[in-house]
Amino acid sequence: MAAPADSDVIAAIATAQGRAGIGIVRVSGKNLERFASQLLGAKPAARTATRATFRNAAGEPIDDGIALFFPAPASYTGEDVLELQGHGGPVVLQLVLRRCLELGARVAEPGEFSRRAFLNDKLDLAQAEGVADLIDAATEAAARSALRSLRGEFSAHIRSLVQQLVELRALVEATLDFPEEDIDPLNREDARLRLSRLEEEVGRSLALGRQGSVLRTGLQVVLAGQPNVGKSSLLNRLAGEELAIVTEIPGTTRDLVRQTIQIEGVPINIIDTAGLRDTDDAIEAIGVARAWEAIGQADAMLLVVDAREGITVADSAIRDRLPAKLTPVTVFNKIDLSGDAPRVEEERQGWRVRVSARTGAGIDGLRKTLLKLAGWQPDGGNIFMARERHLVALEQVATALGRARQSAPRAEFFAEELRLAQRELDSITGEVSADELLGEIFARFCVGK
Ligand code: GDP
Repeated sequence: MAAPADSDVIAAIATAQGRAGIGIVRVSGKNLERFASQLLGAKPAARTATRATFRNAAGEPIDDGIALFFPAPASYTGEDVLELQGHGGPVVLQLVLRRCLELGARVAEPGEFSRRAFLNDKLDLAQAEGVADLIDAATEAAARSALRSLRGEFSAHIRSLVQQLVELRALVEATLDFPEEDIDPLNREDARLRLSRLEEEVGRSLALGRQGSVLRTGLQVVLAGQPNVGKSSLLNRLAGEELAIVTEIPGTTRDLVRQTIQIEGVPINIIDTAGLRDTDDAIEAIGVARAWEAIGQADAMLLVVDAREGITVADSAIRDRLPAKLTPVTVFNKIDLSGDAPRVEEERQGWRVRVSARTGAGIDGLRKTLLKLAGWQPDGGNIFMARERHLVALEQVATALGRARQSAPRAEFFAEELRLAQRELDSITGEVSADELLGEIFARFCVGK
């Protein structure tokens, strides 16, 4: 399947930029022994943490650290891999990297280590995507699900579908060999049952994959409401204990007007309209423009009002500025003061929820409402961190199986649809994959991974 990997030596700083206790430079290529000896003054033992001095061309020390040498093929990339763990300062790491370049390496492209791992059959494509998804995971649930993909559970599941498909194809192709008998392949043995079972499993995989994509993208919510109605208090309440684990993911939480909370591991990305003021500050204006763009793509609007006052004229004015397609969730807050009972009501278009951010009354109902809007149906940890391309492939499989069923009396059409279905499944794990697809997938990785 996989073509042989490129043979040049690649190197990259694999740890994040900035200052840290430890920084790692990673090198991969064929026959790195000489490379390692020149850099370290001696050949490092295989798969053993070796205390070493990293040296420049003149033999002077650049850093003191640990060298790890993984001879091919038992390494991440399947080639010789050298890991240099030194001090995590930007200058010292650049010096180590520069030394690697002097020794003949070139700087690795994003995802190039994983791409080589894929080309050398160390990982299949869905596993490689799991690597990137684990690094990018915004919540604990997303991380757990990405790890399962990385460990091959998703791929194993896809392979079991392929296996069933192959068995069914074998039954059908046996019919093709005896065209004079002219029998409906679905009448042969248990072909019909097998097809139904496959259709069911593909449907279930799609449902689990869609849940995974909820975990990945979450719900985009626009937060609106007058000052002092309790918006911040409400967000803190909603996030509850889970707030602590939310980290800043570039592009989602860094600007002033956006923050991410999570509910049961589902990221809820909040765009705060309070930050959307007209401004002369160029940088802030960019943030505001981006927020408006995000509002255009958001799913829901959380309009918080004081339960004692209800929806005011100012609230309606905000409402009118926002896209009409946002599902409105109107939150009547401070029911501890208004004396209302907590309640969730579905309206013709949207929801009304009565809560108290102060006492926590009704908060559970609001959380459930938001999860419902996100399309979240928790399913005992079996969720696949599916990417859009996996979902598209699975949808194609489902369609091909449906067409197969309809064309069943024409055995050759039936067989052809099954072949197409298998091709789609194979594309998920990368058994068949175009170069452009690989380029697109690996380009989104971090450098050094
Ligand atoms: P924001 O300006 O909309 O973000 O509102 P804050 O969250 O800062 O809350 C404004 C004030 O209302 C604060 O003094 C909060 O303690 C108070 N507050 C928020 N929610 C409630 C609630 O449910 N009940 C009561 N009694 N006070 C609340």
